[in-house]
Amino acid sequence: MTATLGSPAPSAPKAVYFDNAASTPLDPQVLEAMLPFMLEHVGNPSSIHSHGRKLRAAIENARKTIAHLINAAPAEVFFTSGGTEGDNYAAVGSIRTLGLRHAITSPLEHHAVLHTLEALAKTDGIELSFVRHDEHGQLDLGHLEELLATHPRSFVSLMHANNEIGNLNDIQTIGEICQRYNAIYHTDTVQTMGHYPHDLQQLKAHFVVGSAHKLHGPKGVGFVYNRAGTQIEPLLHGGSQERNVRAGTENVAGIVGLAKAMEIAYHGMSDHQRHIQGLKARFIAQLTAGIEDVQFNGTSAHADKSLYTVLNVSLPPSEISEMLLFNLDISRVSVSGGSACTSGANAGSHVLTALGSDPNRGAIRFSMSKLNTEAEVDFAVAQLAKLYRKVAV
Ligand code: PLP
Repeated sequence: MTATLGSPAPSAPKAVYFDNAASTPLDPQVLEAMLPFMLEHVGNPSSIHSHGRKLRAAIENARKTIAHLINAAPAEVFFTSGGTEGDNYAAVGSIRTLGLRHAITSPLEHHAVLHTLEALAKTDGIELSFVRHDEHGQLDLGHLEELLATHPRSFVSLMHANNEIGNLNDIQTIGEICQRYNAIYHTDTVQTMGHYPHDLQQLKAHFVVGSAHKLHGPKGVGFVYNRAGTQIEPLLHGGSQERNVRAGTENVAGIVGLAKAMEIAYHGMSDHQRHIQGLKARFIAQLTAGIEDVQFNGTSAHADKSLYTVLNVSLPPSEISEMLLFNLDISRVSVSGGSACTSGANAGSHVLTALGSDPNRGAIRFSMSKLNTEAEVDFAVAQLAKLYRKVAV
């Protein structure tokens, strides 16, 4: 195997971060918006005195901001601890409250969905069906329709963009199919919230989930959109916060940061998309030219079929496959193999396993943000090519 790229230019970056699908760096403007709620404004938003009322107002302003951006009503937005909680709330609440006995998902979903539904199969005896997909991870929506024809009132959970391979699902069409069969549709939009405009008046989803740390906001805070008229039991019981939908003292600074991050993301969306798409095209071109037999997992190399922030690279089998992430880390390139929740190359990825990927090939997920630069792409590819060149001699 040959690698043709040269050493990084003298101006090469010190270290590069290409693991933004795992978590994005906090935007300084977001931190600035949060700080007063960490340092100055004391109290509990449930208190009726002036301190409490100030915090309550900040929460309600954040709710209005987010609702406006996603074209929903403020009463349909509930704050959570992040994507995992939103997914759990929608699945557990829908199945238990609405008495659903059947759930439809895909083997490519995030574990926040898959493990939740598997747990519900054990504890509540629901039946689980999986929508078929091809070797590139593209869902067979005809099969979804067949499954719904036999089990009309199901809970359907199919994500917008896959966090490992970046595949985009046609959630508009999925929502319309679900509506025809009176199904409850939940879509995990954690990887696309703030990266694509979501219009909840158009989208036929009952539940949509967002997480601040995927869009340059703080970790541990997110929201769930819960369509008006679909009322479900809370996941957390306790106080009456979030209109009895989600108990627990609100993470006020986090909520303020989430709303600010959403505002910034929506404001600069098309510029960020153009910039990141350019970086992705550069990655594809350089990897293809620099490393023999490089391939791309899922549809991540197709601009119109994948999330622009994610590129999942399949590397030829070699003795370094096992240690690829470790070696790249030593070379000051931070990436992920498949998913942040797993370690190793593709050995731990349930998504790549479902696609039938060759376990001997190394897999790397490069995930980009608006902060990455062309020089960082060049550096990362050069480091990777260097590793391959070493084993080729
Ligand atoms: N869903 C998807 C698609 C994700 O990528 C993630 C995070 O990796 C989650 C859910 C979980 O989100 P959080 O980290 O906010 O719990």
